[in-house]
Amino acid sequence: MTEACPKCDSAAQLRSKWLLIDAHDPERAQRHPDTRGACACEGELGVDGLKPEAVADAPLQQFVSGLYCEACGIGFVPEAMAKPAPQRWVLTPEGYRVVQADGTLGPAQPRMGG
Ligand SMILES: [Zn+2]
Repeated sequence: MTEACPKCDSAAQLRSKWLLIDAHDPERAQRHPDTRGACACEGELGVDGLKPEAVADAPLQQFVSGLYCEACGIGFVPEAMAKPAPQRWVLTPEGYRVVQADGTLGPAQPRMGG
């Protein structure tokens, strides 16, 4: 167990907890374009945000064996269970640049078809 709370970055107050997550809902993705941050375990989380092997069979799909930080009062899933956050890009005058894990921008990519 090497997981740490994404908020306080400590594992001292962690305990395992069954978490109720959002059901798979394709419309949700459209109402709320990905709200997850750099860590895949943060932000709005649904069944569709987890790896298939981390999701139980129906009707228990919405329950996952997650972690709960007593100090912060937040539940989260181990990062290993979450799909990687989608790659984000920003458009700059130089072209599209990837947003790296630390929030900095990567090198500009040549424009498509340019
Ligand atoms: Zn915490």
